[in-house]
Amino acid sequence: MGLSERAVSTFAAVCDTLLPAVAGKGEAWSKSATELGLPERLHDVYDLLPNDRARRDVRQLLSLLDSAPGGLVLYRKPRKFTSLSPMQRADALRSMSTSSLGPARQAFKALKLLAGYLYVTPPDGSRTTPAWTAMGYPGPDGPPAEVPKPITPTTISGETEWTADVVIVGSGAGGGVAAGVLAEAGLDVVVLEKGQYHNEADFTHVESEAYRDMYLDRALHGTVDSGFAMLAGSTLGGGTVINYTTSFATPEEVRQQWDSEARFRGVFTGDDFERSSQAVHERLGVNTDNNAPSRREELMDKGLRELGWHVETMPRNVAGCALAACGYCTMGCRIGSKQSTLITYLEDAYRTGARIVVGADVERVTKGNDIANGVVAYVNGHRLQIRARAVVLAAGSLNTPAILLRSGLGGPATGRNLRLHPVTAVWGRFPEPVEPWTGVMQALFSDQFVNLDGEGFGVKFETAPVHPLFPSLFLGWQDGQSFKQDLLGLNYMTPIGIVLRDRGSGRVKTRRNGLPTWHYRLSKVDTDHVKEGVRRATETLLAAGAVEVISSTSRPVRWSPALGGSLDGFLSDISSVGYGNNQTTYLSFHQMGSARMGANPATSVVDEENQVHGTPGLYVLDASTFPLASGVNPMISIQTIAHRGASALAAQLT
Ligand SMILES: Cc1cc2nc3c(=O)[nH]c(=O)nc-3n(C[C@H](O)[C@H](O)[C@H](O)COP(=O)(O)OP(=O)(O)OC[C@H]3O[C@@H](n4cnc5c(N)ncnc54)[C@H](O)[C@@H]3O)c2cc1C
Repeated sequence: MGLSERAVSTFAAVCDTLLPAVAGKGEAWSKSATELGLPERLHDVYDLLPNDRARRDVRQLLSLLDSAPGGLVLYRKPRKFTSLSPMQRADALRSMSTSSLGPARQAFKALKLLAGYLYVTPPDGSRTTPAWTAMGYPGPDGPPAEVPKPITPTTISGETEWTADVVIVGSGAGGGVAAGVLAEAGLDVVVLEKGQYHNEADFTHVESEAYRDMYLDRALHGTVDSGFAMLAGSTLGGGTVINYTTSFATPEEVRQQWDSEARFRGVFTGDDFERSSQAVHERLGVNTDNNAPSRREELMDKGLRELGWHVETMPRNVAGCALAACGYCTMGCRIGSKQSTLITYLEDAYRTGARIVVGADVERVTKGNDIANGVVAYVNGHRLQIRARAVVLAAGSLNTPAILLRSGLGGPATGRNLRLHPVTAVWGRFPEPVEPWTGVMQALFSDQFVNLDGEGFGVKFETAPVHPLFPSLFLGWQDGQSFKQDLLGLNYMTPIGIVLRDRGSGRVKTRRNGLPTWHYRLSKVDTDHVKEGVRRATETLLAAGAVEVISSTSRPVRWSPALGGSLDGFLSDISSVGYGNNQTTYLSFHQMGSARMGANPATSVVDEENQVHGTPGLYVLDASTFPLASGVNPMISIQTIAHRGASALAAQLT
């Protein structure tokens, strides 16, 4: 069902309140959202929403705003939004943003997300926007060059049934490695990937196009109450195609904790885990030779050093990085420097005969005599049934448990223990341009606060390239003038990302129609760790020379030390907005643990050989298997687990 004209005009009233015409040079300042043509582009984003339910939610929200009872619920005034004066509209949105009612905050966040998205993304077919011009954001460096595609996925054009030794669901960090290892062992492998095949020739480096084409649910999805936005790859190669190339081996203490949590002896601390880790490091060419820090990271480095805090060079899976151009490779590396599974293990698998199908959405696992014997997938509406000696699930922690749940497999722990490494940020404004979108994606990190509880839980500091969509999501709204100032001032800003190793966990469930829902709230101890992270990140930015610091809360809290005030005052203002869902902005780049390894079928889903408890022939080889959050960026840990598990499976099947 589409959007009515009435819904669009309600949205226009909201948009013009969030992004009004204000004094300033250039259209991005001086034109209102309506004058910039944003409201009618709502149809485009609406069509991109992940499913009918999300579209229904937008329709319902706009119709609620268009009614007096809705006004009473959302902003405590029994008046339609459009009947309010401009000042009352701004008051209404402010009251929603910090409401004690979760759904009102969620509604505000949705409206701000839609308006902000449209403001900073070019309309279809265009390569710039007034906002980019005002920011000095250059956008892509021309179109991508023609690069041949070394893999030819198999096309499915009717109902199809195949047999294979192994069918692998998902082709990311886990699935890609599993495919390479199993195919090179001489097994007949089929890889089913829900996303499409995009290579260097397709990386347009327009943020909204990258999200649309290569991210799970076009990066427009999150937990049920929108408290945590979910970023994950969905393309051939999964997250490894769009990620930041940070390549940490699993730390020794984490390996010990995992063994202990899983009630294993020497699975994560054993020699085969170490051998697999080394094999992955070699295949991906992990190194620290391509790490010229960006301006963003020079500033973080300066702040950390001033304070005498830890800072170190990041290991990365790149070869011959172009360094300066690197900031755009989170939308895909155009020069093939990023050693994703797409250009490593999946090419290995393809060369040795694996069949790869893209656009293949796996519905469920099939069984015969309680043994997994294949999967059912849909490709462009055609049913594809694979019968196989072994089934490997590697659809990522947000979807692997959903496939298990749809199949009635996995036991009581399926979907539980979801870890997210929630990320929030403090932003620093600097007197000189930072161009936070450029340079090596992640060259440095700080582990100064990774162990806040004496048990290895705390926060890591990292930065990442910041293109216009991130600030539109992270930064809060107080009024149109200051929101525009923050967004359009991006060139002078840089965040310090606070990556939490979460002790608490959430859950993946499925709706009656089989689609997954994700549930997560920060625990008390995790909230305390985030608070400490916010304090320390603020100190780092100020030590680096920031003239103003800004929170990532629904109502932004800002502090310029030159104008007086104190750090404690700044932090207490942030606390008064809150660290809860839709009070502080949280993103998850690392989803883990929702089908975890362990000896006990009541509290885990797969055993030490990655086989699902009680279902021979069914394996999980992705981030879902982590017994606890990894603390470090998880790609190499996932690949190590996949390499170890796939090697054991290959030995068994050959
Ligand atoms: C922007 C960004 C930056 C990141 N940077 C880093 C970093 O620098 N270092 C690091 O260590 N980690 C990083 N990560 C995280 C890392 O990329 C992921 O943790 C990792 O890719 C997860 O591996 P996985 O195998 O579990 O799942 P994924 O790599 O997500 O692969 C799962 C695949 O399964 C497919 N799939 C899902 N459902 C189905 C289905 N029903 N049928 C068929 N296929 C399906 C998906 O389309 C996807 O391609 C980053 C993530 C993001 C989003």
